[in-house]
Amino acid sequence: MFYTSTRDNSIKLTASEAVLKGLSDDGGLFVPSEIPSLDISLDKLGDMTYQETAYEVMKGFLSDYTEEELKNCINNAYDSKFDTEEIAPLVEAEGEYYLELFHGKTIAFKDMALSILPHLLITAAKKNNSDKEIVILTATSGDTGKAALAGFAGVEGTRIIVFYPKHGVSKVQELQMVTQKESNTKVIGVLGNFDDCQSKVKELFADEELKALMNEKGFQFSSANSINIGRLVPQVAYYVYAYGKLVKEGRIKAGDKVNFCVPTGNFGNILAAYFAKNMGLPVNKLICASNDNKVLFDFFKTGEYDKNRDFILTKSPSMDILISSNLERLIYLSTGRDDEKNKSLMADLKEKGKYCISDDMKAFMTDFVGAYASEEECAAKIKSLYEDTGYVIDTHTAVAAAAYDKYSKECNDDTVAVIASTASPFKFLKSVMTAIDSKNEKCDDFELIDVLSKTANVDVPQAIEDIRSASIVHDTVCEISEMKKLVMATMGL
Ligand SMILES: *Cc1c(COP(=O)(O)O)cnc(C)c1O
Repeated sequence: MFYTSTRDNSIKLTASEAVLKGLSDDGGLFVPSEIPSLDISLDKLGDMTYQETAYEVMKGFLSDYTEEELKNCINNAYDSKFDTEEIAPLVEAEGEYYLELFHGKTIAFKDMALSILPHLLITAAKKNNSDKEIVILTATSGDTGKAALAGFAGVEGTRIIVFYPKHGVSKVQELQMVTQKESNTKVIGVLGNFDDCQSKVKELFADEELKALMNEKGFQFSSANSINIGRLVPQVAYYVYAYGKLVKEGRIKAGDKVNFCVPTGNFGNILAAYFAKNMGLPVNKLICASNDNKVLFDFFKTGEYDKNRDFILTKSPSMDILISSNLERLIYLSTGRDDEKNKSLMADLKEKGKYCISDDMKAFMTDFVGAYASEEECAAKIKSLYEDTGYVIDTHTAVAAAAYDKYSKECNDDTVAVIASTASPFKFLKSVMTAIDSKNEKCDDFELIDVLSKTANVDVPQAIEDIRSASIVHDTVCEISEMKKLVMATMGL
C-alpha cells in the first residue's frame, strides 16, 4: 500500500509521508493505491468500542504506522475530550438515525479527525526523522479552524495559522477561534469567502519561494484541511461504527444495506463514507446533501461541475463552498486513475470554472445521489422535528435531514438511513432557535444559550461555556492579497 497523487501517478509515498506533506507538490491530492478491506466480520462490529473500530479501519490505510503507534494516536485522540464514552452516539428520530459527530471539544464533526491528526502528524515526523517544526496552514469555513486550533494548541514542534472568511462564519464560530490563547496559534480574518481562502492557501502550499525560505529556517508546511489524508482516514471509522451499532441494536441484520446521508461542503465526510463502502461495508446509496450552494447536486445530475454562480451565504456556513476539494479524489478514481485526464479537468476548473465528465465516469459514480434543501426547507425541518420528537438538530444536519426527506419520497427508497449530524445546535444558536420560534430572531446569540438548553433538554456544552467569558486574542483582518505577507510575518521570515 502506498499513496500517489491525483495529478501524477509516478508519486509513491508511505502513509506517514503523505500525512506529513498534506498536499502533493503538483497540487494533487494523495490517494491510497488501493482501498483496504475490513478484515473483521460484520456481526462482530457491534461489540467493538469506538477506539477498537477506529483501529480496525485505520490500520489498513496507515500501513506504515506500527500497531503501537496507531493505537497510541487513537487512545490519545478519543478520550475524555469527548463528552460521551460512545464518542459518536446514534440517535433515532422519526425512523431515521442521526449519527452525532459533535461530542468533541469544539462541538462539530471536524473534531472526529482533528483530535487525532496532530498525533498522526507528530508520529509521522518522528518516523521520517524530520527535525523541522511543522507549520499547519489552514483555511476554514468555520469549524475546521477551531477544531484544528484545539488539536494543535500547545503541541510541541507545531505552529498553526488559520484563515477564515471574516464575514462568513457564525458568531459562536468566530468567538471560538479568536479566543484561542496558546502562543503557537494565529487566527486571521480574511475579507473574502471560503473559496478565496482555500484557493490562496493551496497556492501558498505550492509557492516554491516560500517553501525554500521556510526550509531554510527549519519549518515545514502541512495541512489540517480535509485534503490531508490524515483527516479523511479517521472519518471512515464512524461509518463502520454506526453500522455495528445498528446491528447490535437489532435495527438491521449483518449484511443489510444502509443509506448514508451527509451534509456536504468540501466532500471530505461523504468521501469517507464512500471509502467505508469500498472497504466492504454494506451501503446502498450515499446521499450528498447540499444547501443553496448546490454545485454538487447539479454535478451529480448533469455530469457538469460549474462553479460559475453566485456564492450564497446560508444558515449552514460550513457548507458554503463552491469548490469541493475532495471531489478531485473521486474524479481521479472515476477516470480509472488517469492522472493526465484528472489534471486537465482540474485545469479546466481553474481556468474556466467548470468541467464536464464522461458517461463512463458518471456511471462510476452511481453510488452517489445529489440532493439539496433550501433555507426554508431546512428551517421547516428543524421546527417539525422538534415539535414531533423534541429532538433539536443544527442547520447543517437539517440540510441533510430535509434533503433526505425529499430524496426518499422521490425515489421511493425505504432503506434504513443514517444521517451524519455534523454540529451541535449550540454552535448555530440564532438560526436554530429562530427556526423553532421566529420571535427568537430579536435575541442575541448569548441570550439564546439557556433557551436552547431548556428547549432541547440538553446541558450547555463546555465549548459554549468557554467562550461566554473568554477575551479576544486575535484581531488581525486582511485582504486576500495580503495572506502570504501575513504568513511570512507570523513565521518571522
Ligand atoms: C465541515 C462541515 C460540513 C461539511 O463537511 P465536508 O467534509 O467539508 O463535506 C458539514 N457540516 C459541518 C457542521 C461542518 O463543520
